[in-house]
Amino acid sequence: MIRPAGFRGAAFGDAEDGNGRDDLDRRAFISDELGISRAWAFVRQVHGGVVRAVDQPGSAGSADGLITDQPGLPLAIATADCMPIIIEGDRSVAILHAGWRGVVAGIVGAGIEAMKALDDTPRRAAIGPSIGPCCYEVGDEVRSAVGDYASRTTSSTPSVDLWSAAAAQLSDLDVWRSDICTYTEPGLRSYRRDATTERQVAVAWLPES
Ligand SMILES: [Zn+2]
Repeated sequence: MIRPAGFRGAAFGDAEDGNGRDDLDRRAFISDELGISRAWAFVRQVHGGVVRAVDQPGSAGSADGLITDQPGLPLAIATADCMPIIIEGDRSVAILHAGWRGVVAGIVGAGIEAMKALDDTPRRAAIGPSIGPCCYEVGDEVRSAVGDYASRTTSSTPSVDLWSAAAAQLSDLDVWRSDICTYTEPGLRSYRRDATTERQVAVAWLPES
């Protein structure tokens, strides 16, 4: 798993780590690896802009983000091309699932606002592996919806740079970007590349001590 430096509890898994949200054997493996509880909180991801505040494990319903100020409660999302984003405050942590629809729906800003609603200050954010501007070929409708982040793929077709779009929305924070493209990196699940239902997970938590 990738553990971005300077973060208290942030990890981005790969295909080999598996889908610890849905597969309890993989969840046990990942939890033991990270030294965290196996009782995770998660959501049914719907490509929207809603973040749920949680204080217990299990499903928090339909949403694309989770936030908690409960130490020891892991928050997880599963992705295969969409961006996993983790935001750390002084005493809370949030995790977001953001594809182009989520970016347009304002999921990043919703994560920041949810943290402020807990009277906390967002300090740093990590954007994990997801499809990059190198490979994310899209039509005009997506490019105009996302706004100023039009880019080109490595084969010169129109694409969109969601990494930069998300980083701009997180610009008041210290932003870490993996800049790893799920489509190009064979060790990561990519829906665009493989039309797969398989996912990797990102996990965020507040350490207990
Ligand atoms: Zn790529």
